Amino acid sequence: MHPLPFALPGRFWRGNLHTHTTNSDGFRSTEQVCAFYRAMGYDFLSITDHFMAQFNFPITDARAYESADFITIPGAELHTGRTLTGEPWHILANGIPFDFAPPTADETGPQIAARALAAGAFVTCAHPAWYALSEAEVLSLGPVHAIETINGISLDHSDRIDSWYMLDALTNQGHRYLALTTDDAHFHPKHNDRLLGWTMVKSETLSAPAILDALKRGAYYSSSGPILETVEFDGRKTVYIRCSPVDSIFITGRGSKSVYHHGNGMVEAELGLERLGDSAFCRVTVRDDRSRHAWTNVITFED
Ligand SMILES: [Zn+2]
Ligand SMILES: [Zn+2]
Repeated sequence: MHPLPFALPGRFWRGNLHTHTTNSDGFRSTEQVCAFYRAMGYDFLSITDHFMAQFNFPITDARAYESADFITIPGAELHTGRTLTGEPWHILANGIPFDFAPPTADETGPQIAARALAAGAFVTCAHPAWYALSEAEVLSLGPVHAIETINGISLDHSDRIDSWYMLDALTNQGHRYLALTTDDAHFHPKHNDRLLGWTMVKSETLSAPAILDALKRGAYYSSSGPILETVEFDGRKTVYIRCSPVDSIFITGRGSKSVYHHGNGMVEAELGLERLGDSAFCRVTVRDDRSRHAWTNVITFED
């Protein structure tokens, strides 16, 4: 059964892995963005300014705003080459070194993704729904860690906040990606682009190397509200879930296969998995009375 973070040692730390500052096209300074997320109870933040010539290729250093209970992870959103629609790629790199070299004129999106992976970053195909990436384009990025399944700012930019369809379609074809939920906050005064989704990482310590290691192992779940306390499978037979109050629980597998359970303010449930059929994988989603979600990563059954 892989990957589930709940039985791992340590505790959950809350973080946002995609946000911008005035070092690129954001509306608040690095200090203000760090202060905002820290005040909202986040434990870690990765600022991911646009790594573009027009902003002088920033990799924002936020370490001056760290404290015992709030750490930062160097990051960037990489843009080079062109997608099928002629737009620059958007590739998220968390844990990128500060001396990561700017792209050459002919570097492609897949090439810079490979370079970020080689440099040790946790690499994510950013918001495929936002710019209508094709499955083939996502696959062309090679072995990146994750697909950004929820991208907050897309809510007010194009109403394309949700890229889960891309991850599910590729999962059905045998590919395995982690799922990332972020704000992509720019702090435009008229946009609702913060506190829309975050990552809950299980780790024994709060440090950039420990969080990055846990991310790469998939030791996390994603949320836009609910708390997942535990998800425990008994093979392919049953799943037990304990969580903050939710009204709906979904276990989704291959194709249209799903197990669902509805109620009012449920805090635990044990569900049979017969309706998953012969799905080799599934994922768990809970939804509360305000349509906020928590999502596990894709879980693969071991035979
Ligand atoms: Zn982007
Ligand atoms: Zn962004």
